[in-house]
Amino acid sequence: MSSPAPITEAPATTQTLSIVVPIYNEVESLPHLIQAIASVMQAHNYAYEIICVDDGSKDGSTALLKKLATEREDLRAIILRRNYGQTPAMAAGFQHAQGEIIISLDADLQNDPADIPNLLQKMNEGYDLVSGWRKERQDNQWTRLLPSKIANALIGRVTGVNLHDYGCSLKAYRTEILADLNLYGELHRFIPALAFIEGATISEIPVRHHARQFGSSKYGLDRTFRVLLDLLTVWFMKKFLTRPMHVFGYLGIIFMLVGFILGGYLSFLKLFLGQAIGDRPLLLLVAILLLAGVQLFGFGLLGELLIRTYHESQGRPIYRVRSIVGQSKHFSAQ
Ligand code: UDP
Ligand code: MG
Repeated sequence: MSSPAPITEAPATTQTLSIVVPIYNEVESLPHLIQAIASVMQAHNYAYEIICVDDGSKDGSTALLKKLATEREDLRAIILRRNYGQTPAMAAGFQHAQGEIIISLDADLQNDPADIPNLLQKMNEGYDLVSGWRKERQDNQWTRLLPSKIANALIGRVTGVNLHDYGCSLKAYRTEILADLNLYGELHRFIPALAFIEGATISEIPVRHHARQFGSSKYGLDRTFRVLLDLLTVWFMKKFLTRPMHVFGYLGIIFMLVGFILGGYLSFLKLFLGQAIGDRPLLLLVAILLLAGVQLFGFGLLGELLIRTYHESQGRPIYRVRSIVGQSKHFSAQ
């Protein structure tokens, strides 16, 4: 067994844990997975629940999961109506989790539950989110590793959260951080970036990774392009979520200013020196700059309106409180 991270003895945590696992056609892995999670939890004496979300499996995972959930006290099965994808499946699990800390991992035994104590230990150093880093990744085709390397570097640059491995499902989160996120599409890979926008503190530790034993991967090469498109969305969220006018309006003002200066120069040539300016390319540039400037300005205003609707329709606050210390004298009991 390859093990980049030695198992360190984490201090017993008193926090309640919810282990969330999305499942799509993983019938062979399931019994091993539940057993592996439960034995780590019991060995460390954690207060835990396992939440398995069946994402419309067609291979008998659903029936097996239902059976296991009736037999075991530590397991809850959330059965989705059809296959929605990994992000919605994870979101369903997060929503039903009752623990103070949520841990997500894949069902295919590629992640190792034995790393959970290490994640918790790191978390207790004062982080809201600790991500796993598959330092010795066991997906050895270059078609997987190269796109993932490029994607990780790009995501790091764009989002400002520098993790080695965004694609690792094994992560630990404080529940209140996840409650603040709206996940859709395939945004589960960007949870650290989205959490960072909401003010979360983030760290990572190396974790073990095993080759898939049963079943097959649910993704192909096209995933790379979808990740890049999602990255654009996240970049937009980060940049424009609060002040679109500052981006578009600013550009608009610069365009208009340059347009006015060049236009003034041309007017000067025409009016005072009597030169013909009708066939000058510069005139075209002036027209484009002025038009584009007005357009960008209008775009900024529209963006402001949209963002206001977005915030208000979701009741989304413009700030997040980490904690409040002390209490008002006025209200405290005597
Ligand atoms: N998964 C899911 N719904 C889907 C696709 C995948 O719930 O539509 C689950 C899958 O069962 C696994 C996890 O998401 O637990 C990651 O999928 P996979 O192992 O195929 O991804 P890879 O490890 O190849 O990136
Ligand atoms: Mg996998």
